Amino acid sequence: HFAAVEMVPGDPILGLSEAYVADTRPGKVNLGVGIYYDEQGRIPLLRAVREVEQALALEAKPRGYLPIDGLATYNVATQKLVFGEDSPLLAAGRVATAQTIGGSGALRIGADLLKQVLPIAKIAISNPSWENHRVVFGSAGFEVLTYAYYDAATHGLDFPGMLADLGKLEPGTVVLLHACCHNPTGVDLNAEQWQQVVELVKERKLLPFIDMAYQGFDVGIDADATAVRLFAASGIEAFIVANSYSKSFSLYGERVGALSVVGKDRDEAARVLSLVKRTIRSNYSSPSTHGGALVSGVLNSTELKAMWEQELAEMRERIHAMRAGMVEKLAAAGAPQFAFIQEQAGMFSYSGLTKAQVDRLREEYAIYAVGTGRICVAALNRANLDTVVNAVAAVSR
Ligand code: PMP
Repeated sequence: HFAAVEMVPGDPILGLSEAYVADTRPGKVNLGVGIYYDEQGRIPLLRAVREVEQALALEAKPRGYLPIDGLATYNVATQKLVFGEDSPLLAAGRVATAQTIGGSGALRIGADLLKQVLPIAKIAISNPSWENHRVVFGSAGFEVLTYAYYDAATHGLDFPGMLADLGKLEPGTVVLLHACCHNPTGVDLNAEQWQQVVELVKERKLLPFIDMAYQGFDVGIDADATAVRLFAASGIEAFIVANSYSKSFSLYGERVGALSVVGKDRDEAARVLSLVKRTIRSNYSSPSTHGGALVSGVLNSTELKAMWEQELAEMRERIHAMRAGMVEKLAAAGAPQFAFIQEQAGMFSYSGLTKAQVDRLREEYAIYAVGTGRICVAALNRANLDTVVNAVAAVSR
C-alpha cells in the first residue's frame, strides 16, 4: 500500500534544532527556533499560569469533552483581547469565535471554512511569510499567491510594492496579513500604513485574514492589535482573525489559539459559527481542555490578568533590550550595518546574513540560524550575546 510513498522533506527549522541538540561543542547557541527563552535560556512558565494550574490541580475535576467550539469563557475573553473590551463588533454580536488547536489550528479551520464558502477564491500571503501559511492553505486546496513585503535593500518594508500587488488581486481574494511581529522578517506596518491597506482591501473587495500569533510581543495588547482594530472600524462586512497564545502565555505545547470570524450582523455570525463547528467536528471534534482552562483562568481573573500582562511586558522588554544590546555591540565590533535590527519587531529578525555566512556561523562558531538569515532574538541573553555578536561580526567582515 505504501510502496510509492516518497520521503517528504522535513521542516528545515526542526532539522536545525536536531543538529543543534546533537552538537557537542560548549557554548553553542540556537537562534533557529521560534520560541521565547528567558534570561536563563529556559522557556518560562508564567506565574499567572502556574497559579491557575495549581488551583486546577487541587480541584481535580473530571475530564469530559469541551463543546465543539471550546470553552465559552475562553472564547469571550479572547474576543475582548483581540477586538478590544469596548468593541462595537462584539456588542453587535458580529463575531463568531471558536477555541482551536493553537494558532495553526485556527488557520487550518479558517482555511477549510473558506474553501467551503468561496471554493474558487485564491489566497495571497506576504513574500516571505511563515512557511506553514503556504502549506496550510495549499493543503486546504487554495492556490497560494504572494504579495511584495520585505525589501532586502533596506531590511524594511516594501510598502509601495505591497500596495501595488494587493491592488492587482481579483476581488474576493483572501489576503493573509500578519498583525504584528512578522514571521520571519520582524518587519511590520505602522498605523498609517495599516490604514492605507485597510482602505485598499475595502476598495478591492478583498477578504482579510489576519494572523495574530504575537499579540503583546512588540508594544502591548492593544497597540499590537492595531490592524484588527482598524479593520473593525472600517465598516468592512467580513474579516477573519486567527490568534495564538503559544508565545504570549508561553504555552507552546498546550495548543491554545482561536478563530474569530466577523460577519455582517448577528444572524450571519451565528450561521458562520454553525459552519465553523461542523468544520471542527470533521477535523478533530473538539479542542483539548487543559490549555484553554489555563488561559481562561488567567484572563477571567482581574488579578491574574494584571500579573500576566506584567509578565508579557517583561518578555517584550527583554527582547527590546536584546535587540538594543546586539546592535550596540555589533557597532562596537565594527559592524554598524546591523542598526536595522532595532527597528524590527517581535521574536525574529531577518538579519541580512547570507546562506554562506549562516553556514559559517554554524560550522565555525556553533551558532545556529535559519538559512534565510532569520534569527530568533528572543533566544539571546546576557550570557550568549557576546559570543553571537563576535561571531556575526567575524563572518560579516
Ligand atoms: N502564525 C505565525 C506567524 C506563527 O509564527 C506561528 C507560530 N510559529 C503560528 C501562526 C502558529 O502558532 P501555534 O504554535 O499556536 O500553532
